[in-house]
Amino acid sequence: MTDSPESDRMPPVFELREVEKIYQVARPGSVFSRHKVGLHALDGVRLTIRQGASVALVGESGSGKSTLLRVLLGLTPPSEGFALYRGRPVTEVRAEGKGFAREVAMVYQDARGSLDPRMTVGALIAEALRHFDICPRSEEPARIAALLARVGLPGDAAARYASALSGGQVRRVAIARALASNPSVLVADEAVSGLDVSTQAQLLNLLRRLRAEMGLTLVFITHDLGVASYLCDEIAIMYLGRIVETGPTNAVLTAPAHPYSRALRLAAPEFFAPITDPLPGEIPSPLDLPKGCRFAGRCVFARPDCRETDPVLFRLAIPDRPGRAAACLHPLTDTTI
Ligand code: ATP
Ligand code: MG
Repeated sequence: MTDSPESDRMPPVFELREVEKIYQVARPGSVFSRHKVGLHALDGVRLTIRQGASVALVGESGSGKSTLLRVLLGLTPPSEGFALYRGRPVTEVRAEGKGFAREVAMVYQDARGSLDPRMTVGALIAEALRHFDICPRSEEPARIAALLARVGLPGDAAARYASALSGGQVRRVAIARALASNPSVLVADEAVSGLDVSTQAQLLNLLRRLRAEMGLTLVFITHDLGVASYLCDEIAIMYLGRIVETGPTNAVLTAPAHPYSRALRLAAPEFFAPITDPLPGEIPSPLDLPKGCRFAGRCVFARPDCRETDPVLFRLAIPDRPGRAAACLHPLTDTTI
């Protein structure tokens, strides 16, 4: 993925090289728990995220978005391939102490579940400040007030309990906690889903502003193409454990090169709506991937060779449209939606 020439000279913030993640799961229909079979949650994933980039990971449920994030963050090791953070194996960086968690903040989908309802907002933020030794205790109230202001909450929110906050306020507190360590990277898994439209819009504006003010690198998982387009300059579209298309978000969404990206775009005609209707055709089981392209069975453009050859992600040479890549034997060239 692209960014400024200066950041091109530094190692990327994150890099996934040919990452495979295979979970051993019980064989379907087997009564013996020892009969395991490999589930390919990630398959041949390549992704480069440079300093200052904002990348949306998009795909249907089960496509591997959360697994990719777990590998990226070193929470689970890849079965094959490499997950690098600033040029070094992320599991190694993580093992060195709190430095990685201080630099890379995470906001979870279940923000309410991640906050102890019996603690006040001030205490929740203070906990994060202390965990990372950010400031002496005497400076905590001022820090907490500054963080609350930064996420658009009133100063008196510090005295309130998490259980008494609205859905939007809870997300703001989760973001304030994530920012307590002054991170350079913010990673979020469905951080604005499940909210009403206006609350979601306010949070998206907040995240956009924070990104600009703090120069954050942003990795954002979403089901919603509108959210991806509003918040992220780049997009990576996943299907059954593989990244099938990457590139500048608006270029990909207006002229998709991969038939799956096009189908996703067509399934969300209102654009700013989550992908709710599944695409026609059945998703193959990740326990039994077909030969050839895994999207061929649902692809209206599939040709005979698509059922034989499994395409890998490769750069597309499209005039005036740099930074595009797709895993398709016959990428679309001038799709009009
Ligand atoms: P969603 O949009 O529903 O959150 P996702 O794109 O985040 O989906 P993942 O949670 O990464 O998808 O799951 C990818 C595949 O890996 C799925 O088939 C899932 O069932 C499987 N999977 C994920 N975690 C595990 C695990 N710990 N053990 C076994 N299988 C897993
Ligand atoms: Mg997920």
